[in-house]
Amino acid sequence: MPPEPESKPLKHINIAIDGFSSCGKSTLAKALACTLHYRYLDTGAMYRAVAYFALQKNLIALDGQVKTAQLIPLLPNMQVGFVLDAQSGASLVALEGKTVEPFIRNLQIATLASKVSQIRAVRDYVQILQKQMASEKGVVMDGRDIGTVVMPQAELKIFMTAEPQVRALRRQMELENQGKPMDLQTVLEQQIARDYEDAHRKEDPLRQAEDALVLDNTHLSAEQQLKWALEWVKQALQQE
Ligand code: C5P
Repeated sequence: MPPEPESKPLKHINIAIDGFSSCGKSTLAKALACTLHYRYLDTGAMYRAVAYFALQKNLIALDGQVKTAQLIPLLPNMQVGFVLDAQSGASLVALEGKTVEPFIRNLQIATLASKVSQIRAVRDYVQILQKQMASEKGVVMDGRDIGTVVMPQAELKIFMTAEPQVRALRRQMELENQGKPMDLQTVLEQQIARDYEDAHRKEDPLRQAEDALVLDNTHLSAEQQLKWALEWVKQALQQE
């Protein structure tokens, strides 16, 4: 049998990445998954898919509130999951086996996702799926409650931060690239409101796990943050 390539770790660990929005979590998670040949799971996309489902089923009231009592009985039929994109090899979030990725990356769904993610029954439903995926090992998951609730046993937990102004600038650039320009003050205000919701909600608020390593990427490039994280992966693998 040919020897394993040196760069490929023999053991598989799970990596949990948590942090506020626009901290660069998904950039790091994707880069780690790609380098280590692990599976990347975007848990925020699952809440976005639930929000999209609720919108499709007319379960959003005129005042923007989710019709929770009507949504809960439909959860078991929703079939949130991931499908593999044949071209890029990426896992794309899906409902009933069909990707909904093109419909969930907008402000309306982001706002609704923040609301549906506060419903205990929705979190229970989504977390069961996430825990099943984590049981396969070799998973990089990013979100808000991964190190604290979904994978408290993950061998490596990273809590990402960056200065609010820098995050807002990054988000503004992202929006501009999507052809949706927005002034910096509005981006910053929306960010502050979402951060507050994430950290102060009743159900699984964003918290740093006690044993999480903090990665402040305010002054780091994508390559530099990957280098830091890979060093931590090496250390975590040595402890296995
Ligand atoms: O990360 P993203 O912005 O795509 O997440 C969408 C929404 O889902 C966020 O508002 C966040 O509060 C919620 N979320 C969550 N738990 C996670 C991931 C995301 O509550 N693990």
